[in-house]
Amino acid sequence: MTPRRRLIRFTDIQCAEIAWAERSETTTALARRLSLPFDAVGQARRRFREHGFCCPVHWSMCPICGQPTAGRTSRHRVHLSCRPGRDAGYARRRYARLVDELGSGFLMLSTKRQLASIERLHEATARDQELTLRSAHRGGKRWTQAEDAVLCEYPEKAARDLALQLGRSRFSVARRRSDLRKFEATLEAD
Ligand SMILES: [Zn+2]
Repeated sequence: MTPRRRLIRFTDIQCAEIAWAERSETTTALARRLSLPFDAVGQARRRFREHGFCCPVHWSMCPICGQPTAGRTSRHRVHLSCRPGRDAGYARRRYARLVDELGSGFLMLSTKRQLASIERLHEATARDQELTLRSAHRGGKRWTQAEDAVLCEYPEKAARDLALQLGRSRFSVARRRSDLRKFEATLEAD
């Protein structure tokens, strides 16, 4: 059995010692001098030689303010101070989707009535989800091209009806639809 490698977090001083050790000093001697495991010191030494004494930094554009943001991965990130803006955007889009689903008359209602119709919509959605789950024989299975084609062909058809047709749950259809739309949007942006 191979022993499990222990993750070692070097202190700044230890990192500096490893980074600036004389090339003539062997890794064995260096590890002994610092009282650190040979493997870990060797690994860190190689990493520092390849990348320098720093962590790789990826720059990307914050989608909210358009300013650069740095991170450890190439994933797009949002500044901490821009998160409220992003969340407000989510909320606005959620609300726009609601209005879309409930029809333009929704905006003419009083707040109390608006809340009541949102509540009814949620209840209907939950009922649809339960109904479609009962016959969802494709649940958890990878989406096929043929299934995606059906979703693209009927963009206006209710998610519940498509779910029943495809043997999926209503939520699964809605999620896939939204993923396909995002995918399409990125293709158009490219
Ligand atoms: Zn930002």
